[in-house]
Amino acid sequence: MSTRMLPLLPGGPITLASRYEYDGRPILRLNATQRAARDEVESKVRRVTYEFETVDCAVCGGVEFEQLSEKDRYGLRMSVVACTACGLIQTNPRMTQASYDDFYNSEYRRLYVGEEVPTDDFFQTQRRRGAQIFGYLVEQGALPKQPRDSFVLEVGCGAGGILEYFREQGCRVKGTDLGEEYLTFGVERHGLDLSAGTMADLELDRAPDVVIYSHVAEHLLDPVRELGHVREIIDPSGALYVATPGVKYLEHSYETDFLRLLQNAHTYHFTLKSLRNLLGASGFEMLAGDETIKAVFKRSPVDSARLAGAPDQAAYDSDFDSDYEDVLAYLRRIEKSRRGAAAMVRKSTRAAKRAAVGTLKKTRLHDVVRPSNGRESG
Ligand SMILES: [Zn+2]
Repeated sequence: MSTRMLPLLPGGPITLASRYEYDGRPILRLNATQRAARDEVESKVRRVTYEFETVDCAVCGGVEFEQLSEKDRYGLRMSVVACTACGLIQTNPRMTQASYDDFYNSEYRRLYVGEEVPTDDFFQTQRRRGAQIFGYLVEQGALPKQPRDSFVLEVGCGAGGILEYFREQGCRVKGTDLGEEYLTFGVERHGLDLSAGTMADLELDRAPDVVIYSHVAEHLLDPVRELGHVREIIDPSGALYVATPGVKYLEHSYETDFLRLLQNAHTYHFTLKSLRNLLGASGFEMLAGDETIKAVFKRSPVDSARLAGAPDQAAYDSDFDSDYEDVLAYLRRIEKSRRGAAAMVRKSTRAAKRAAVGTLKKTRLHDVVRPSNGRESG
């Protein structure tokens, strides 16, 4: 792992489309809060306050990558590559842990939600998400419909809205997150058991029956090691729930645009297959899952001594089902259909203009003939 001053591009030229080349322009409409946060990040990258590192593929140890993008949706410089061996899409080079820590404290929330404080609306949205996750876990047989004293742990819980729903259903809940402002909101307003820190800082008095990673795995720097740690603490018959944006769900999300999915906070970009490869390397096997992505995993019968002894080595030894050809073919198909749709819009815009000009001419003629009738001319 080498630390470099500025992001270098390890994967060569971008083959997907030229719009993924770095130009500093956002493709989202940013509000004033977001623009300020974006400018702060750029300035910190220029001043080398934020440092970058190049890493080997977390799942297969591969060192060869195909360059997919040089920017994210905010117009920030972001090197997104696909591992040519296992197909895992990742940000590489990426910021160092210290730089990400600074970024999450300083700009992340303002950039991502455009708001600086947790709100009741945000909490209720999370609570509704909790209801969906609960329903899914029951459906998959990972949790009883009327859980009595099941212990649910959420990593990256924010204000704890998801856990609130599980508590209402009779579960004992605990959450952990790095953002103290959100934790305080959940603790003070809702009396939830939430604490600051990472998975490694957690002290538990019993093994969780369910562990939730909702939109967290894509932010981790060393997901194989962290999820390997979850394997050690979870109840042997426990369930791990993971939700993350799905690269292969673009027909139904992010306006069918891979670029809109990219944000500099994300270190990984998963398909169900690449997520499964990752979890496999951490000692989990999939019970159920879809490309949206939501999925439930159970501990796989892997030698846990090997995992505990040398997590990295264990990861590289594990089998994976390469997603490289599949995911690249998918992204090229999406890009092609986007170009087709854009051409249709341009065509129909030209046709609409011609029609409008025609109508205008007719209207003027109409107005000359019957100047009193203005209502029907629009
Ligand atoms: Zn790989």
